[in-house]
Amino acid sequence: MTTVLGCIADDFTGATDLAGLLARSGVKVSLRMGVPGALPTATAPFEVVALKIRTIPVEQAVEQALQALDWLQAAGATRFFWKYCSTFDSTAEGNIGPVAEALMAALNTKQTIYCPAFPENGRSIFMGNLFVGQQPLAESSMKDHPLTPMRDSNLMRLLAPQVTQPTGLIDRLTVARGADAVSSGLKQLDKDGISHVVMDAVADDDLHVIATACRDMPLMTGGSAIAMPLPALFAADGLLAADAPRMTQPALGPSTVVLSGSCSAMTNKQVAAYTASGCATYRLDPLELATDGPGPAVAWITAQDLTKAPLIYATAKPDSVRAAQDKLGVQRAGEIVEQALADCAIAARDAGAQRFIIAGGETSGAVTQALGVDRLDIGTEIAPGVPWCFATSKGIPIALTLKSGNFGTESFFSDALSKLEPA
Ligand code: ADP
Repeated sequence: MTTVLGCIADDFTGATDLAGLLARSGVKVSLRMGVPGALPTATAPFEVVALKIRTIPVEQAVEQALQALDWLQAAGATRFFWKYCSTFDSTAEGNIGPVAEALMAALNTKQTIYCPAFPENGRSIFMGNLFVGQQPLAESSMKDHPLTPMRDSNLMRLLAPQVTQPTGLIDRLTVARGADAVSSGLKQLDKDGISHVVMDAVADDDLHVIATACRDMPLMTGGSAIAMPLPALFAADGLLAADAPRMTQPALGPSTVVLSGSCSAMTNKQVAAYTASGCATYRLDPLELATDGPGPAVAWITAQDLTKAPLIYATAKPDSVRAAQDKLGVQRAGEIVEQALADCAIAARDAGAQRFIIAGGETSGAVTQALGVDRLDIGTEIAPGVPWCFATSKGIPIALTLKSGNFGTESFFSDALSKLEPA
């Protein structure tokens, strides 16, 4: 069927988060890992192209986003969504603004919105400042992120060095006056030459107001939550048939592996909670990996009883991450760990694992790539924004969940295990 909304996500977990929220509507959502080589066939009403462009050089990010746009346009989409992290992960040289401007130019549109708010997960925006729970972004644990430390909370200020056109704000007071007020506010900003508009949103109702006002924009940008009202709005507008098919779970064996490369505060808690539950664990040390390679970890996972869902993790506290980065460099430390987790995933699959619980955005990208997964069908949600996904790897049906840094509660790994139907 013709695609109604074409989405481009800057990392894999962000893509599954978005796809999961869209799938809450019951409408079929298809997620492509990278820009598909072939022209679109058997497309879903909602298509999400997952890229891995959060921290790559700007020109490459723009090029890949434009290729994704071409593919989504070929699928029939006329409305597009640029998805980045709800904590606005980027540096001054980051890709959020440049990709938005490139998509705007290609779509011949002068204005777009920026709304990374995700109230259900504690991300809210007030007077253009992003909060994580009750803390401003720059005071949250995101200030210590290994690749994109966030040291400012003001989205206009974070965006300004990334774009060529002026930034502006529709504040909470306007949003509180409803969709018409938001539309008029956007028109006024457009007259004033403001192309990049940050949208305040502190609660789900705000997202609904904003989505209602912006649903016909050629391009919207944000976290996943601002897209959540779109299926119902498109259905009400008659763009979407109400009887789209639901996803079903394929038959899966019980063997499972948990792979964690995220160093976020929440993932640290999740690893601690899962370890305390008595499962077998193996800690990856970047410095040891740099000298010994991933062989010992691969040997360990191969020797495990995978029906007990063992855990391999590089997850560490900020001090320890910084120590590894000081010795190896940020990029190399990250790559060594991602490669080791990818190798362990392949070894686990070859040993019979059909269920993969993966923590970390970049980590998920590396693991899915190694498993040769190019398309995911969206299934049951485990935590807000984190669904189980179904795919094939080497012809074998597998389930994967791809959890980015701070998502889920402390019991996420065991929650994930219990959310999939038993074999
Ligand atoms: P998140 O979703 O929390 O941002 P990511 O997987 O996207 O997690 O990013 C974490 C990065 O940190 C990855 O590149 C990973 O390989 C790297 N990393 C993981 N553990 C360590 C460690 N102990 N020392 C240094 N870097 C690490």
